[in-house]
Parts: sequence; structure tokens; C-alpha cells
Amino acid sequence: MKVLVIGAGIIGAAIAHRLAPHARVTVIEAVTPAAAASGKSFGWINASYYQNDDHHRLRVQAIAAWRRLDATLRTGIQWTGTLWWEETGPAFEATHDALRDLGYPTRLIDADEFERLEPNIATPPDRALQFPTEGAVDAAALTDRLLTAAMGQGAQLILGTPVTGLIGTSRITGVRTDQGPIHADHTILATGTATPGLLCDVGYDLPLLRRPGVLLRSEPLPPLINHILVGPDGEIRQDATGHILAPASASHQSDDAETVPALSDLAEATLHRIRTLLPEADLRWSRMTLGQRPVPEQGLPVVGDVRPGLTVAVMHSGVTLAALIGERVAADVLGRDDSPLLQPYRPVPSV
Ligand SMILES: Cc1cc2nc3c(=O)[nH]c(=O)nc-3n(C[C@H](O)[C@H](O)[C@H](O)COP(=O)(O)OP(=O)(O)OC[C@H]3O[C@@H](n4cnc5c(N)ncnc54)[C@H](O)[C@@H]3O)c2cc1C
Repeated sequence: MKVLVIGAGIIGAAIAHRLAPHARVTVIEAVTPAAAASGKSFGWINASYYQNDDHHRLRVQAIAAWRRLDATLRTGIQWTGTLWWEETGPAFEATHDALRDLGYPTRLIDADEFERLEPNIATPPDRALQFPTEGAVDAAALTDRLLTAAMGQGAQLILGTPVTGLIGTSRITGVRTDQGPIHADHTILATGTATPGLLCDVGYDLPLLRRPGVLLRSEPLPPLINHILVGPDGEIRQDATGHILAPASASHQSDDAETVPALSDLAEATLHRIRTLLPEADLRWSRMTLGQRPVPEQGLPVVGDVRPGLTVAVMHSGVTLAALIGERVAADVLGRDDSPLLQPYRPVPSV
């Protein structure tokens, strides 16, 4: 079976990685791997953020899928866990109760324990929740590793080649590029925010929300932070090479702003927030990235067939979900998926 995976972000890479041992896989990428959202992500793998119980369960399974993959591939995920104190008062209790009722590993910690876990953070909160199963990763590096592993299993990668259209109407039999058509038995669109444009060819409407996101990265510092930290002013973490990373907006996963303020103002405001937590650190920012998150209209993933021979996989929280999506989409395409996990996220049939 010949399969085309269009888009070499983390989702396309994870799908290609799972399919490569079972099919002849070609990944076609317009620019370079992780050129879009995957190269601009905060990279937090979590199930403490979710929209409904099904979505939470999907994310829990997604964490488990990364753990499975970790056993065979050097993913680079830092399984540090998260400390969360974003809400206070009744909202804090509600989050704690909801996650405990869902059976999510959650520990209530007090200020003393917080201080022991994070000795460099000024003014620890009175209490926080610890989510020990969560982690974070450089999504661009992981995308590369997945693609390299897929190529080791026979997959082929075509870079710098935008797909310009789909071939076929009732059944999709390949894609068009400026260098000519490429035919296949099955085509998978893992093209993030570019997906609606490609689906126009088959008359399928997949509305996405406009959700820009800015990420600030500091110059490398000695180890200062041990967990992913989620306070009322936003999320921060420190990567394996010492950079402090922070989305410019608080609660970045549910951030619904359609535009971003001037980047220089944003940089100063974000630095200010980090300095409040880490006043002793010699903090200077070296990189800011503006990315467009692929967010389907309902805020939830859209994964499945839209036409015979054509699958889409578009979602926010793609870093959290990629390993699971890779497993399930590969099983779908190979006709082996008997899991109900993705049922709530199937594309709505078009009229
Ligand atoms: C600031 C920010 C913070 C984020 N934080 C988190 C987080 O903490 N945790 C989390 O789980 N998620 C997070 N996300 C979301 C996550 O990064 C995305 O959901 C994920 O990267 C989507 O991956 P993807 O492979 O679907 O899309 P993308 O990474 O956008 O990849 C799509 C690829 O398709 C290619 N392409 C597009 N059109 C074509 C074409 N016509 N032909 C060929 N190739 C094409 C593009 O060049 C690109 O390489 C964040 C995103 C942003 C921007």
C-alpha cells in the first residue's frame, strides 16, 4: 500500500513513523520539518487541560502513547511533571475535584513542599496541584527524530514541495505538486492551518479558528526550574539546554485572542512575568516566535476520513496528542482500528 503523508509537523511525522513498517510511505512537506506550529510550540504534554471528559481521556491515552514510544525511540521528553496553581479559591477546588474524579494522578501540595520542589521560585503559592505524569519536549527535535526513525523503516521525505491540490473527486488517488502529480492508495493531510485550503478541492469545509501564539525563549541559564510551572500569570518551563520558555499569554491552551500585541511590548511583559517568579535569574530573551495554532472550530481535534482515500488530522495540543494520533491513524489506514477513542473527533460528513 502506498501512502502519502502531507505535512512534516509532529502529527505527520508521528503518523509516518507508525505507518512506515507496514506501508510505502512518502512524506511531502512544503518547507522543512516542523516549519509551522510544531517548531513554535511550548511543548507541554498534559491532560490537566481538557474540554470535556472524553477529551481528558484522549489526552491521558496520549501521554501513555508517548511513554510506549519512549521505550523504543529517544523522544527527548522531560517527564518532569507539572505544578499548577493557576486558579485560587473555589476554582482551585473545582479543578482538583474534577481531576480526582476523573482518576488523574494529582497531588495537593502546600507552600513548604512547593518550596522544596522549586527552591528558586520567589513567593511560593499557599497550595498547588502536582501532575506527576506530565512532561514537555522540544517538538521540532522530536519531529526530526520521528521522521528519521520513519526513514529508517523505508519512508521517503520530500521537502520544499507544497502540495497544490488533490487528485480525484469521489475517491482521492494522490496529490498535485508543481513538479507533477504523485499517486497513492491513501493520502493523509497533516497540514495544520493549511488543511482547509487543500480540502476546498473536494468541497469539504473545515473551519479553523484564528489562534496566533507567541513563545519567548531566554538565553540558557543554569538549572532553575524542575517542573512545568502553571501559575495565574502563565506557564513557564526550562528545557534540557537551560532555556526558559514561556508562552506570551497566560493559559495559552485556551487563549482565544485572534491578534497579538506589538512583539516588543509582549516580550517585556512576558519577561516581567518570569522575573516575578525568578527575581534572582540573569534573564535575557534571545528568541520570540509567532506561530499559528491549528484549532478546529469546536476547539477539538478533527481526525478521520473525509473521502475514500483521504484522511485529515488537524488539532491543537498536537504535541500532547501526536503519538496516539500516529498509532490510531496508522491503524485506521491499515483497516485495523477498533478503538472508540477517536469517534468523538471524526470529521462531520459533508452534504
Ligand atoms: C505558541 C504555541 C504554543 C503551543 N503549545 C502547545 C503545548 O504546550 N502543548 C501542545 O500539545 N500543543 C501546543 N501547541 C500546539 C501544537 O504545537 C500544534 O497542535 C502541533 O504542532 C500541530 O502539529 P501539526 O503537525 O498538525 O501541524 P504543523 O506543525 O503546523 O505542521 C503542518 C506542516 O504542514 C506543512 N504544510 C502546510 N501546507 C502544506 C502543503 N500544501 N504541502 C505540503 N506541506 C504543507 C507545513 O509546512 C508544516 O510543516 C502550541 C502551538 C503554538 C503556536
